[in-house]
Amino acid sequence: MARRTTQTAAQPQPACRGYSWSLFYGSDDESKDRAAAREATAKRLCARCPMRQACLDEELARKPFDQHGVRGAMTADERRAEIARRAVANQT
Ligand code: SF4
Repeated sequence: MARRTTQTAAQPQPACRGYSWSLFYGSDDESKDRAAAREATAKRLCARCPMRQACLDEELARKPFDQHGVRGAMTADERRAEIARRAVANQT
């Protein structure tokens, strides 16, 4: 008789775990160059996150839409464009 083992699969952890939200959300007085560098760093972190797609989908479905920050490897402007792209795709 085979012995039953109880294994629980390790839950994927977000890559941003332990990072400050200031990496994802800039300050009001942040320069454009600094914002671009910060966002690029955040997006690289998201790109290797095992929860990226779920994070992005959740963020795209959020109402009201979050106008700031990097989530799911997209800036708010990129998410806004993705919402519009998906709306058009759903009409066809
Ligand atoms: S994809 Fe979402 S959960 Fe993953 S690192 Fe980026 S913000 Fe965090």
